[in-house]
Amino acid sequence: MSEFGFKVQAELTNSQGRAGVIHTPHGEIQTPAFIPVGTKATVKSVLPEAMKELGAQALLANAYHLYLQPGPEIVDEAGGVGKFMNWPGPTYTDSGGFQVLSLGVGFKKVIAMDEQTFRSDEVIADHKERLAHVDDDGVTFKSHLDGSMHRFTPEISMQVQHQLGADIIFAFDECTTLHNTRKYQVKSLERTRLWAKRCLVEHGRLTRERSAKPCQALWGVLQGAQYEDLRRKGAKDLSELNEDGISFDGFGLGGALDKENLGTIVSWMTEELPREKPRHLLGIGEPDDLFVGVENGADTFDCVAPSRQARTSAVFTKTGRVNLTNAKFNRAFVPIQEDCDCYTCTNYTAAYLNHLFRSKEMLASTLATIHNERFIVRLVDQMRQRLIAGDFHEFKKEFLGSFYSSNLKRSLA
Ligand SMILES: [Zn+2]
Repeated sequence: MSEFGFKVQAELTNSQGRAGVIHTPHGEIQTPAFIPVGTKATVKSVLPEAMKELGAQALLANAYHLYLQPGPEIVDEAGGVGKFMNWPGPTYTDSGGFQVLSLGVGFKKVIAMDEQTFRSDEVIADHKERLAHVDDDGVTFKSHLDGSMHRFTPEISMQVQHQLGADIIFAFDECTTLHNTRKYQVKSLERTRLWAKRCLVEHGRLTRERSAKPCQALWGVLQGAQYEDLRRKGAKDLSELNEDGISFDGFGLGGALDKENLGTIVSWMTEELPREKPRHLLGIGEPDDLFVGVENGADTFDCVAPSRQARTSAVFTKTGRVNLTNAKFNRAFVPIQEDCDCYTCTNYTAAYLNHLFRSKEMLASTLATIHNERFIVRLVDQMRQRLIAGDFHEFKKEFLGSFYSSNLKRSLA
């Protein structure tokens, strides 16, 4: 694993927050960093070159989606997900655990995790089909594309992720919801621990078998929902795992995280984790959550929100989110944000984007996505700079005060 490593460069006092650098076979990631999501090996509507230009240091693709289409063998033959999509930098794939358990139909609406423990009305919404079944060996699920049946086990997830060939891959875990009972969370946490062990064994085997390929780092995924003892135990258990000399190279902070207690829950985990290994907070991308995550020791983040919201004409500005279809923008011959250094703001006006969105032109998504991704990537880069400079907390106060000021005004009104 000589090509993979992590170095802490600066730390916050009185909390777990830090700045560092992750080394991968495809380059370095200066952390904290936001990793844009290219679910199906593309950040929707944006060229990889434009993602590079807007400052993305790495991209995250999804194992579940690429497994179904085009299939991991094809990505493997192409030389891995980065080569396939013409992205020369570092790549991540998530294990597919979250997707096979939620299947995009509405998490906690369609899944039955333990029929004995739950009243079915808690986990299956009326008229919804059950699309995934979990057992101790793995998950059987129905493809959202054609209804065909598939099965993921820890071993299959590792095989798929080795074929996809990302630099950083994640262990297959069971993602629970905050609605599951504590009894189920305990049982599930143990299942995730046993799956983590199986992932390490299979990852070791595949690394030896595919020794000509670039090395891949395997990160364990921590669960435990809203319970302090379970979160701490999960973090401790996974950081102590060692199968034939192979342990996790980093950790994904996963599972259901309620926004209210995000910082506390993240700190329970990071306090138990080894300082010298990087941590990724899965699926988090709102500005306030990113500050809380960085402050409590998460190093990288991913989220589909910046691009998904951009496609619905919602863009970030320093004073909060605005909707570009709003009539007030039809003569706004100024950038979305005056001092934004993105390609869109440098070359186009809000009035033009207003027109593109209203006339349903494809370029609207491209330009809005570039702005939103740049906004979030730059925000986390600034957190890194201010953490190193020693005034992270001042920056947090200044940014959030401005970003949420309109909400505050509304709530005071
Ligand atoms: Zn911009």
